[in-house]
Amino acid sequence: MFTKILIANRGEIACRVAATAKRLGVKTVAVYSDADANAKHVAVCDEAVHIGGSAPKDSYLRWERIIEAAKATGAQAIHPGYGFLSENEDFAKACADAGLVFIGPPASAINAMGLKAESKRLMELAQVPLVPGYHGADQDPALLQREADRIGYPVLIKASAGGGGKGMRAVDKAEDFAAALDSCKREAINSFGDDAVLVEKYVQRPRHIEIQVFGDTHGNCVYLFERDCSVQRRHQKVLEEAPAPGMTPELRARMGEAAVAAAKAVKYVGAGTVEFIVEQPGGYDAPEQMKFYFMEMNTRLQVEHPVTEAITGLDLVEWQLRVASGEPLPLRQEDLRITGHAIEARICAENPDNNFLPATGALNVYALPECVTFERGAVRVDSGVRQGDAISPFYDSMVAKLIVHGDTREQALARLDEALAQTHIVGLATNVQFLRRVARTDAFTNARLDTALIPREQAVLFHQEPVGLPLAAAAAVAQTLLKERTSEGVDPFSRRDGFHTHGVVQRRFEFEFGGEHAKAWLTYERGGSLRLAVGEGDAAVAGPLVFSARADGIELQFAGQRARAAVYAQGEVDHVFTPLGATQITAIDLLAHAGEAAAEGGRLTAPMPGKVVSFAVKAGDVVTKGQPLAVMEAMKMEHTIAAPADGVVQELLYAPGDQVTEGSELLKLVVAEKA
Ligand code: ADP
Repeated sequence: MFTKILIANRGEIACRVAATAKRLGVKTVAVYSDADANAKHVAVCDEAVHIGGSAPKDSYLRWERIIEAAKATGAQAIHPGYGFLSENEDFAKACADAGLVFIGPPASAINAMGLKAESKRLMELAQVPLVPGYHGADQDPALLQREADRIGYPVLIKASAGGGGKGMRAVDKAEDFAAALDSCKREAINSFGDDAVLVEKYVQRPRHIEIQVFGDTHGNCVYLFERDCSVQRRHQKVLEEAPAPGMTPELRARMGEAAVAAAKAVKYVGAGTVEFIVEQPGGYDAPEQMKFYFMEMNTRLQVEHPVTEAITGLDLVEWQLRVASGEPLPLRQEDLRITGHAIEARICAENPDNNFLPATGALNVYALPECVTFERGAVRVDSGVRQGDAISPFYDSMVAKLIVHGDTREQALARLDEALAQTHIVGLATNVQFLRRVARTDAFTNARLDTALIPREQAVLFHQEPVGLPLAAAAAVAQTLLKERTSEGVDPFSRRDGFHTHGVVQRRFEFEFGGEHAKAWLTYERGGSLRLAVGEGDAAVAGPLVFSARADGIELQFAGQRARAAVYAQGEVDHVFTPLGATQITAIDLLAHAGEAAAEGGRLTAPMPGKVVSFAVKAGDVVTKGQPLAVMEAMKMEHTIAAPADGVVQELLYAPGDQVTEGSELLKLVVAEKA
């Protein structure tokens, strides 16, 4: 085994590799860009080397610099993670030339699987089933059109050098083929510098099922079963699970053996994934009729490898390190077993309601469910960030991976839902609530899977507002009252809700919710109970408000709803998380806006019940706009009331120490005529 390795990556995968290395007593060297100087992956490694600017081409893709760093620090091997240099055969070769072990397959295997068309030709020889199609070298447009016509529509044009869901065009009819081909070639040359394409049958309602394979340098190769990654958006994986629902032992063995044949055809070493597209001619209820076709092989560790770890009880990074250091595979095919069911959800900084636009910003709140990290457990979160870290525009938008494991799929689903509900991220848009909705669709719950699940279910997935105004307002009010209670201490006479001794007192709140203005009234009733009325007229919802603070939020009862809510204030915005979903409600600071009302009517009124602390002016004073006039105390906090406009103070209507009710006029101001 190595004594020191360099991890040529960042984020969660760098932290993931470091965790296993640490467990095995292998020292780690991190590399980092300018943007990542304070990143978690730098903190968790034993050493770190700065390799350049924030853009990947200036750092994580600069392989000469990375090899220098490995040599300078005495690392014996380089783990490339996924993305960046992981499937770069030149890098794999350069490592070998520098006397370093590349923790991955031989350069020749990367090369053989690098181009979709080339790899299909090889797979054909190895008798791995292929999607009917054309993957020849002749790229004459007329020939491609004839091939498409022969295959029959709809067809898919794919950039041979493509990846990450880019460079694909579905074509429904012959007339559209030429235009789609042009556009696909343009995208391919721009994104991959190579405009070769292949054409294949566009499989209807397909599933994406991939097989994890592992080879060693002694000629052994096994499959670690399958993962179903059918739930995708724009050809990118969203939820992944293992085993694949409906998979029969017979089909699993056939797919596993085909994947091993594919790996052996390229003398594969290390962790790899053979991706299959699976046709369901008998529909969702006849999985035994599923037909699988080779799509491509990914010659690296995949993002979704933890679901395989969860069901096999293995650490795939440990296997990678063992194989790279020359050891044989730890287990044989017949020793491998599946236990339970695992699902992974990719938590991304993006806005699903705005076409999944990536979001950047700081993770002001990053609260996770109770979980383990980088090891197997019922709830596991693999993440490369900490609270307070920023998601920068330079790298991909994945914040964390949430992986759940249960005895059954049903149990795993229940854990997933609960864990997502307990994942509270504030500071930037994420897909957490969207993931919950996807996992809760009937289609996913009942494992009616195919790659079009998300577009088909869009009506229930996008632009949802599961938490209504009453619950959001009740949570915001409860949070305010709890904050006041803690700041006021235990002295009953100083407590804000001591007002009930003078009779019934009402307090007004105003909110901005879902783009609408809303009012709420809180009544302190005799005996100390609270009553809340949210909204006006027919839409008003009123009833007792009961709440108590818990370690993980507020236990809340209002208007027939009972929920555990967590509320995080960011300026005036309260981010409310409940088991129903998450929402935002903005509390309008009535004191801050007091002047606005005054500007219209020439009256300066108390926006809330409270006490007059002092006046900063006397009758006859000339004041300018914004000048402090009076200080009021409400909610145990002092609030300054400023002049809404230039003018002259005519009269003070109260004295310091007076209690005033909401709406009481505090002083009269004669507003100066505009010049
Ligand atoms: P990439 O390398 O960009 O990830 P893949 O070839 O792996 O591209 O395909 C990505 C996704 O596109 C698949 O998971 C599947 O959803 C869809 N896809 C690919 N080929 C086909 C096909 N022949 N028919 C239908 N869908 C396909």
